[in-house]
Amino acid sequence: MLKSGSEHLRQLRDGRTVYIGSEKVDDVTTHPAFRNAARSIAALYDMKEAHSFEEDGERYSDYFLRAKTREDLVKRRTVHEAIARMSHGLLGRSPDHVASFVTGMAMNPAVFGKFSENLIRYYEKMRHEDLYAVYAVIPPQAARNPEFYEKQNLPVPTLRVVREDDDGVVVSGMKMLATGAVFANEIWIGNLIPLAPNQLAESITCAVPVNAPGLTLWSRKPYERHAPSEFENPLAWRFDETDSMVMCENVKVPWENVFVHMDAVLARDIYIKTPGHCYGNHQSNVRFHAKMRLIVGLASRIAQASGAADIPAVREVLGRFAALEATLGGMIAGQIQDAEDWPAGWKTFNRRYMYAALNWCTESHSAIIDSLRELCGGGIFQMPADVTVMHDPKLREQFEAYWQTPQLPALERMKLYKLAWDLIGSEFAGRHLQYEKFYAGASFIVRNHNYREAPWDAFHKVVDDLMASYGVPEKPVGRLTR
Ligand SMILES: Cc1cc2nc3c(=O)[nH]c(=O)nc-3n(C[C@H](O)[C@H](O)[C@H](O)COP(=O)(O)OP(=O)(O)OC[C@H]3O[C@@H](n4cnc5c(N)ncnc54)[C@H](O)[C@@H]3O)c2cc1C
Repeated sequence: MLKSGSEHLRQLRDGRTVYIGSEKVDDVTTHPAFRNAARSIAALYDMKEAHSFEEDGERYSDYFLRAKTREDLVKRRTVHEAIARMSHGLLGRSPDHVASFVTGMAMNPAVFGKFSENLIRYYEKMRHEDLYAVYAVIPPQAARNPEFYEKQNLPVPTLRVVREDDDGVVVSGMKMLATGAVFANEIWIGNLIPLAPNQLAESITCAVPVNAPGLTLWSRKPYERHAPSEFENPLAWRFDETDSMVMCENVKVPWENVFVHMDAVLARDIYIKTPGHCYGNHQSNVRFHAKMRLIVGLASRIAQASGAADIPAVREVLGRFAALEATLGGMIAGQIQDAEDWPAGWKTFNRRYMYAALNWCTESHSAIIDSLRELCGGGIFQMPADVTVMHDPKLREQFEAYWQTPQLPALERMKLYKLAWDLIGSEFAGRHLQYEKFYAGASFIVRNHNYREAPWDAFHKVVDDLMASYGVPEKPVGRLTR
């Protein structure tokens, strides 16, 4: 089934509990902190018809497609691209992210052992109901060792199973950091970083509806609420996907929504022994590429606006931006060109290229934004505080006369610089710097994925074969003499 945007908005009015500080939000679709982002998500649902496939007489979004061929992988990339371009890559956890994890997992359900049927049923439910799931798969920062709390008889902050019943488990505690949860139907709770072998209660991996009794979302400061208008903060206005701590107090999870229980190793293996992590993060690569298109376009427009675009040194900077955008495009295409026949019978994006792109994005984003910042110079702060100058006839006349340049009228310049600031300097922009560094885990985690997947034996063989091709000379050969 393909749901419409208005149907998705209706589903968000389900009694979910969302806090902004101490304020309890009544309706996320109308609240000034969330309503525009909710509409941006809804718009994604209205464009998906063109990106769907049929199976057993029903239509599903292409991001639920389990690929058997390269063409299927191209379909997946295309739907990610269409979604990412609508938000210019600013919605990291759009509905195609976690859905891709679950789809990849459903290509190797045997990994889930006794819960494999649950996983397949959940995959089928997700695609049938066109569910938007996000995830919280990291324990709260600095609270990852339960022993500290247990010794002092304090509640353990990390989400864990506190009770098992005939009909399911009961979980309590916190998980970070559910981006997009405010706008989602379900939250996937799990563990993407390894657990200690004795962290059995924490190994729980399950799906919970956002409106589950006992579940509360504690939102960080929403930037949409503080955006005075679309003109002032065009990106925060529409694309603040939000990040929330997930707090569970005795939340009941029926057995059919449990995918891992009492198994610290499996809790992490489900991501890397199935195509789940690869499918999900291919979406991240494609999403970043859409953002690069916005960055490169803005860099060029900013250089034009300041009159610097034709200076050879600035053209060189723009050429570098274009090269970086194309580099990522190539890395994404390569993942399909050199796709893997894994697991048997299915196709997966080339994992090494995907992780290399993930590492490239994590490492490069801050420097790319800094380069754009340099192009902007002080132009942003030459602009009046806000666009209300246009409402005062005297100020407007002065503004239009003095702020215009040979390149642009005053108002167009102001609009351009406001947009640039929302990408490089506003609070929304600052959050994006943090997001791009951490969304797939800290950099050492991303590099560990690259380490794990590298063919070290083949690399070592190159060195060993080379060294084996020569030996110790039998007698000294003539030294070079001067
Ligand atoms: C904006 C944003 C959105 C996010 N969205 C999601 C989401 O949707 N779902 C989700 O589950 N999570 C999400 N996350 C959480 C993200 O997964 C974590 O931030 C990430 O795993 C890093 O964990 P941490 O923040 O606890 O940092 P820490 O693990 O505390 O690391 C902080 C820093 O400490 C240093 N460090 C710590 N340990 C080591 C080590 N062993 N070796 C070397 N250096 C080390 C590194 O410098 C590291 O960068 C999001 C995070 C951000 C910032």
